[in-house]
Amino acid sequence: MAEAPIRAVTMDKVVALCKRRGFVFQSSEIYGGLASTYDYAHYGVLLKQNVKQEWWRAVLQERDDMVALDAAILMHPRVWEASGHLEGFTDPLVQCLGKCKKRWREDELRAQQLGSEHAEGEIVCPECGGKLTEPRQFNLMFKTHMGPVEEEAAVVYLRPETAQGIFVNFRNVLQFARRKPPFGIAQVGKAFRNEITPGNFIFRTREFEQMEIEFFVPPAEAEQWHRYWMDERLAWYQRLGIRPQHLRLRAHGPDELSHYSSATSDIEYLFPMGWAELEGIANRGDYDLRRHAEFSGEKLEYVDTATGERYIPHVIEPSAGADRALLAFLVDAYDEEEVEGRKRTVLRLHPRLAPIKLAVLPLVSREGMPERARRIYEELRSAFFCEYDEGGSIGRRYRRQDEIGTPWCATVDGQTLEDDTVTLRDRDSLEQVRIPASRLRAEIERRLAEPWAPPAAPRS
Ligand code: ATP
Repeated sequence: MAEAPIRAVTMDKVVALCKRRGFVFQSSEIYGGLASTYDYAHYGVLLKQNVKQEWWRAVLQERDDMVALDAAILMHPRVWEASGHLEGFTDPLVQCLGKCKKRWREDELRAQQLGSEHAEGEIVCPECGGKLTEPRQFNLMFKTHMGPVEEEAAVVYLRPETAQGIFVNFRNVLQFARRKPPFGIAQVGKAFRNEITPGNFIFRTREFEQMEIEFFVPPAEAEQWHRYWMDERLAWYQRLGIRPQHLRLRAHGPDELSHYSSATSDIEYLFPMGWAELEGIANRGDYDLRRHAEFSGEKLEYVDTATGERYIPHVIEPSAGADRALLAFLVDAYDEEEVEGRKRTVLRLHPRLAPIKLAVLPLVSREGMPERARRIYEELRSAFFCEYDEGGSIGRRYRRQDEIGTPWCATVDGQTLEDDTVTLRDRDSLEQVRIPASRLRAEIERRLAEPWAPPAAPRS
C-alpha cells in the first residue's frame, strides 16, 4: 500500500469544528463532562442518520438476500453465557503502583512499549514510569439489575454487541422470511463496553452504535462469502468518498483471532493517530448457532424441505461502528485552503452524507430577496434537508455552509427578482451557475443521485 500523504487534519481540529458547528458535544459538559461520553448535536444527528441510511441502502434496500432486525438491548443472561462473553469478553487490566495509580490495558502497553502485544519483557506506566500490577482479566460488559431487587438472580447486561440479538432470532427470521442460505440479517443499534482506555474523541467510547450483518451461508461457501463481504464493505466506504489511500484491509494474525473466529480481516482507516480498525469482517463458522442451540436446547439449523438436507449455516459477520465511520467520514472530508487570500475550512462530505443538501440565501436582506429566498426554501424542504439563512455577509454565510459540508448554495439576487433564476454555488469547485428557481429541485436530486468522488488533488 502506498504511503498516504501528510494531511493538515488533526483530531483537535475536528473536535473543535464539531463543537463550534454543532456536530458533537461533550456529554454533561456543564458538570465537567463524563469521560469519553458524547452527545450528537443537530448536524451530527443528521450526519449519523445519513451514514446509517447509506448503510441500510447498500446492505438491505439494494439487495434481495437481507432482512432487517431491531433487537432489544437487554437480553436473557444465558445469551452471554452461550456467546462466550461472560467468560471471554475481557481485556487484561493493569494498574500503576507508582504515583499516578492509573489503569491501563496491558496488551496496549506491550504493543506501544515492546512492539507487539505478545512481546515478553517489562512494561511501565506510560504516565509516571511507575511499576505495574500483574494483569487481571476485566470483563467489559456493563452489569445492571432487572426489577426492583438488586440481587444476583436479577443481573442483566447491556449488550456489548448487537450480533447476539441476530443469532437468537435466527429461527424466527427463517420461519417468517422464507429464506435459504445464503441470506443475512442486518441490524443497527447501541452497544456498550466498559472500555479500560476509551479515547480519541468518538473513536472509542463506552456507549456506541454498531451496524452489523450476520450473513448465513452453506459451510462450503464460507470462504468465498468472507472475501465477497470484504470487497463489498471496502467499496462502500470508497463510494461514500473516503480516499482509497486512507483505507486498507488487514488480516488478523492467528494470535489475534477471537474465540469464535476462523478468519477476521479489519478494514482500517488512516486516522490522525494512525491506522485503526473501522470495521471487522469475521468468518465465525458455526460457533454462534451451535452454542445457542446447545444452551437453549432449540434446533438452530437450516432444513431444505425439498431435499431433506440439513446443516448449521456458517456465518460471515461484517461489523461496523456508526460513530467510528462518522469520524472517518469527517476526518477524510476535513480540508483547509486559501481562497482569495482568506482561509477557508471546508468539509468535503459526500453530498448524500452531508447534513444539509442546499442552503438558500438572499444576497442582501432587502428588496424582496429574503421573501423570495424563503419561499424557495419552503418549496424545497420537503424534498431534502435545506437551510434558509439571511444573517450576515454572503461570504460569511458561504463559509458557515462550507464548514458543515453543505454541497450547494442557491443565492437569490437582483436578477432573481427579474427572471426568477438563482446562482447555484458548488462547495468544492466554487463554480457558480445560473439556473431557473423552478429547476432547483430536479437539479439537486440529479446531483445527489450521481456518483461522487472527492476533488482529485486533496490539499489535506
Ligand atoms: P477494537 O479492537 O477497536 O476494540 P473490536 O475488534 O473489539 O474493536 P468489534 O468487536 O469487532 O471491535 O466491533 C465491531 C466494530 O464496532 C468496530 O470495528 C468499531 O467500529 C465498533 N466499536 C467497537 N468498540 C467500539 C467502541 N468502544 N467505541 C466505538 N466503536 C466501537
